[in-house]
Amino acid sequence: MPCPERHVIILGSTGSIGTQTIDIIERLNQRGYAFSVVGLAAGKNVERLAEQIKRYHPYAVCIGKETEGEILRQRFPKVRVFTGEKGLRELARLDEVDLIVNALVGAIGLPPTLDGLSLGRTVALANKESLVVGGELVTKFLSEYGGAILPIDSEHNAIFQCLRAGRLSEVRRVILTASGGPFLRVHKEELDRVRPEEALCHPNWAMGSRVTIDSATMVNKGFEVIEAHFLFHLPYERISIIIHPDSVIHSFVEYHDGSLLAELASPDMRIPIQYALTYPKRVETGLPRLDLEKISRMEFETLDHEHFPAFATVLKAAKQGGTSPAVINAADEVLVERFLEGGIPFTGIASGLQTILSRWESAEANLKEISSDAGNQDEVILSTLLAADRWARKAARYLSF
Ligand code: MG
Repeated sequence: MPCPERHVIILGSTGSIGTQTIDIIERLNQRGYAFSVVGLAAGKNVERLAEQIKRYHPYAVCIGKETEGEILRQRFPKVRVFTGEKGLRELARLDEVDLIVNALVGAIGLPPTLDGLSLGRTVALANKESLVVGGELVTKFLSEYGGAILPIDSEHNAIFQCLRAGRLSEVRRVILTASGGPFLRVHKEELDRVRPEEALCHPNWAMGSRVTIDSATMVNKGFEVIEAHFLFHLPYERISIIIHPDSVIHSFVEYHDGSLLAELASPDMRIPIQYALTYPKRVETGLPRLDLEKISRMEFETLDHEHFPAFATVLKAAKQGGTSPAVINAADEVLVERFLEGGIPFTGIASGLQTILSRWESAEANLKEISSDAGNQDEVILSTLLAADRWARKAARYLSF
């Protein structure tokens, strides 16, 4: 029996996860699947988006700037062209969409996730910030509107797979693996002098530049703890981290009976992407398989908090909740940019995050105050989160070292 047609929107289609999603869709369609790309969104890469429009014929697209939107409208008069953050929201609300792949980078990814969920849609989520910044809102939308999230982030995808072996009530804890990034063995005193190109060299994974730097500081792992907290409804005490430099095991679930389940695979994001696309089915990917004989051994070690001070700061913000995670996320985005431009030392990312979090006061109180206002409460909370994001961006840009 032929597979039913599935209409997909890819937000962030020209980035690392977006292009790998398209690769998987092509592979699946060659195997008899019928994925049809009906919407695409890119931030700046108008040329690559134009190539994708020619190849996949979406009926709507979104690009960051209005001037670029105008270029696309002239080149593709039959395609609906949206622009900017509003455009992302329009795209997520298009009619007849079966699946939204959200591969945007940054807090900009939260509103379209909420829009998709508000229509009861399934969101294959690679945009961590949807949960880091808006985890409470996303949880509320999931329970109110009946949509679903399928995690693409490799660790969460691994946990999601391992959870099929038991009930959530049977889980003792989940253990996220962390490679330790490029500076695991670099002496603490030398971290001040590491250059952007060294930080961009992740030992195992090929990823976008923000997440690669976030892996080097371990901010990424802090964000992933927040993701796991909201995705799997686990208190922070039941989410652990283990350093596993080999990146073979993508995470563990420990059940009450002492059984530890793990997911192992080649470090290739196309595997979790495909799992989200074909879920609950598993099909051939045609990708290289893990060769256990070649691996022969695996290592694990404890996370050294002194070596990775940013991890504790992210976790502190996570436990504060409210707008604090939004603040940390936005500050980190700007501090990473400043490091990549050569403006601040690598260690400035961690120290800057700490300073900015301590400046952001009574975050929860702000949220409660505003939530008593009239109007659409969800939109009010969303705009409060985005206001915190803007505040933190400015604070991070002008923070002196
Ligand atoms: Mg990850």
